Amino acid sequence: MLTHRLNTTLLILGVFLWLVVRLFYPVNPVFPVAIFLLWLFFTVMGSFSIRWNYHLYARHENPASPDVALTFDDGPTEYTPRVLDLLKEFNRKATFFLIGRQVEKYPGLVQRMLAEGHTVGNHTWSHARNTGFLNAGEMEAEIRACDRAIQAVTARKVKFYRPPFGVTNPSVKKAVQKTGHNVMGWSVRSLDTVIPEEGKILERIFRSLRPGKVILLHDTSQKSVNVLREVLKELERRSLRAVPLDELFNLKAYEEI
Ligand SMILES: [Zn+2]
Repeated sequence: MLTHRLNTTLLILGVFLWLVVRLFYPVNPVFPVAIFLLWLFFTVMGSFSIRWNYHLYARHENPASPDVALTFDDGPTEYTPRVLDLLKEFNRKATFFLIGRQVEKYPGLVQRMLAEGHTVGNHTWSHARNTGFLNAGEMEAEIRACDRAIQAVTARKVKFYRPPFGVTNPSVKKAVQKTGHNVMGWSVRSLDTVIPEEGKILERIFRSLRPGKVILLHDTSQKSVNVLREVLKELERRSLRAVPLDELFNLKAYEEI
């Protein structure tokens, strides 16, 4: 798989080769421009496609598992109790990637998640729109502030981190190397915050719903709650279990403190 390091090495090699060859032959100057554009293309695509593992290693699914994982980003919010009620009704467990400042607003919901057997992870302090443009220090501060908020209400230090918007770059890589989090991606993107029709969202999910998959949802709207009910019914029809990510990947979700 093409990584940022490999892509950049190829760019440097290409430019070096061009510089050497042009000492002896007239070479078209379009060549270095073309390889730079290719480098840029893959860098931009890789930054927005967490599944490429372009900048860093993230886990997206576990084909060896007989179960699926439901994951909810951007909470807790006023809709989270409905998500928790549904999960309880259908007896399925999930993973919640929490925004630090939302944790401060709804500490009781985070405690309820843990009490009901769900797992929580870090989704930065503020989920800033410019999260892809933060430097490594700012990124690390965002992650650590979210960790502290969760720790303050649960007395646990979380190990899982999911980057906002799935954006990764060298700053995110440096930051998670320092904080020591396991980066979690997904393999089924529902686009529940983008697509207006519940039916279309469900179509996207059911198309790729198989054991081992990690499904990305958001506990941020009634639409997503409605979608969740249908997903849970489908899991029941197919006798699929939903387990938290620590169980799906056999990893520890919390650090000893
Ligand atoms: Zn998010």
